[in-house]
Amino acid sequence: MLQFWGRGSAFHSDNNSAFYVDGSNLLLLDFPMSSFHKMRKAAADGITSNENSSNGISSGAISSIKHIYVLVTHTHSDHIGGIPMLIHYAYYVWDALPVTVVAPSKKVAKDLHFLISHLEGCDENAYEIITADELTKWKAKAIPTTHTEELEGRCYGYHLTIGDKSVVYTGDTNTLAPFEPYLKKGVYFYTEIAAIASPVHLSAEQELEKMLTLAGEGVHVFLMHLDREDEIADMIKGTGIQLAPLAESFLGNDVGEGAKHGQQDPLQEKGAVSDMNSQQLLTDIFSVSHELYRDMSQAGETDHMKIFTHLTELGRILTESDRASFWKWDKGTHTLWTMTATGTGKITIPDTTGLVGKALSEGEVIVTNDPYNNPYFNADVDKKTGYVTKSILVMPVANVKGEYIGAYQVINKLGGDGTYDVREDCRRLSLAAMICGLALESEVFLEESHTDKLTGLRNRMGFFHDFDKKYRSYIENPDADLALFICDIDKFKRVNDTYGHNIGDEVLKHVASILRDHKPEEGDVYRRGGEDSIMIMPGQKMDDGAAKAEEIRAFIEAHDCVTDTVTVHHTMSFGVAEFENDKSIEENIKVADDKLYRAKEEGRNRVIV
Ligand code: GH3
Ligand code: MG
Repeated sequence: MLQFWGRGSAFHSDNNSAFYVDGSNLLLLDFPMSSFHKMRKAAADGITSNENSSNGISSGAISSIKHIYVLVTHTHSDHIGGIPMLIHYAYYVWDALPVTVVAPSKKVAKDLHFLISHLEGCDENAYEIITADELTKWKAKAIPTTHTEELEGRCYGYHLTIGDKSVVYTGDTNTLAPFEPYLKKGVYFYTEIAAIASPVHLSAEQELEKMLTLAGEGVHVFLMHLDREDEIADMIKGTGIQLAPLAESFLGNDVGEGAKHGQQDPLQEKGAVSDMNSQQLLTDIFSVSHELYRDMSQAGETDHMKIFTHLTELGRILTESDRASFWKWDKGTHTLWTMTATGTGKITIPDTTGLVGKALSEGEVIVTNDPYNNPYFNADVDKKTGYVTKSILVMPVANVKGEYIGAYQVINKLGGDGTYDVREDCRRLSLAAMICGLALESEVFLEESHTDKLTGLRNRMGFFHDFDKKYRSYIENPDADLALFICDIDKFKRVNDTYGHNIGDEVLKHVASILRDHKPEEGDVYRRGGEDSIMIMPGQKMDDGAAKAEEIRAFIEAHDCVTDTVTVHHTMSFGVAEFENDKSIEENIKVADDKLYRAKEEGRNRVIV
């Protein structure tokens, strides 16, 4: 987005100053004398090669500029010192290149006029002064703020819309408050910060925390007007916050050196249809990968959903899209559902419908830049939410065996002409899709290893996994209630011996489905092994657990297992316990096991508490 010729505060050799080349317009945000010298030198030297263009402007670039706009935040000399010289130079040397000085208010416009024409003696024909509300370009809006006492009522920052990006530039300020309403996800936020505390600037010690929060919420935070750059760089190391980018060239803009000489940035190759510079893209990718890594290395809490959330965001960033979703293909139920999606809740659709269904059934990428005229596009979500889809890319995701297991969908390309490019966007999305495929495969594998194939109940591994994760809060909190019971089919060996193993299996499935149907909503049931199951009832005391066990016991006794060939009557015995925090999981289970043993001893088909 913005590039900087300098990001130092008042007493540095390079003062803070930002610019943006918008076609043939050059937008400057504040313009100290140090920036004037850089601009003049670059143009005068006639620099044309990339390695010498560290001033960020070349004669080639200047010759393609038709109008210069300078937005002024306030009149300290480290912000406006270069403006009169720029006006003289543009008028006399650069063939009367028009310069418009944009003041944040009428009062500041008057001050600037006095300075530029009366003190510095610029020809009135060489420039114009307007106020920000008269500037229609970039939807500039001056935001009043406070800085030094002497300039009370004369200090501003700006909100701008550049392309489709929202930009907030604070100028010098001692408060973030006036800017906060603008600081939403996706906004490019350029803010001053100081390592040395003072009443006129934002102090890193006090404000960095807030900026970290903003970065975490998806605001692109860039720090400028730095007093001690090294110290501040140390403070933000490894966070999503960055120093304002110093200009290297005009990459990403048409007047850039690369564009002139065909030396293109690989991420900006033809077809990349993008004005996001590669540095920014990399920074965004790294902040997602950093969050992903952090979540993955945090013991206890992590689950696959968090990973998918990060990966979905990664896909969105890589393709510069407004929204992204990751769909899992459940071949068993013939459905597709969004594991994660930006902007909407979970959506489940039959796998024969929509663009995602089509992409998966054909095993092909689908791009449509005119979805309303695509017969497979389902406009229901748009209708419900009022969102308008303009472009879509769907990419099937495979596991390592090459079987499709899900799909990425990104919608509404930002930047460029708003359309997806099959080759370039797929190339970019492949990074997220590949990791997502591996993560999804490992999730499926984990789920399978926790599930009993015969009954579909979670198994012993699933039980210990859940106890460690899902029920940890109950185990650790002495005030939380958790009841459990263990149950076992009576004389089950006889069923096998009488009717054969297959009928035994049918009885196991029959009992499992009864247990599943009767479990409390919050609870879970596990096949611990053989014909023995365990039910966990979080939030319930011993009496509730016993009542549930009795309900199931009676139901099983009353409902025989009916197969094609035989009807098998069977009963079950139960041992109930209430989880005690001072005992281990194994010890607690032993309490229930002992009760079950007593139930068997005392004649079976009963519940012992
Ligand atoms: P009790 O009332 O004391 O529990 O008697 P029981 O016969 O149910 O107990 P026992 O432990 O002697 O026998 C359990 C039987 O369960 C033995 C084993 O063959 C059978 N079994 C374990 N897993 C399976 C399975 O997956 N399928 C079938 N059909 N039988 C199984
Ligand atoms: Mg048994």
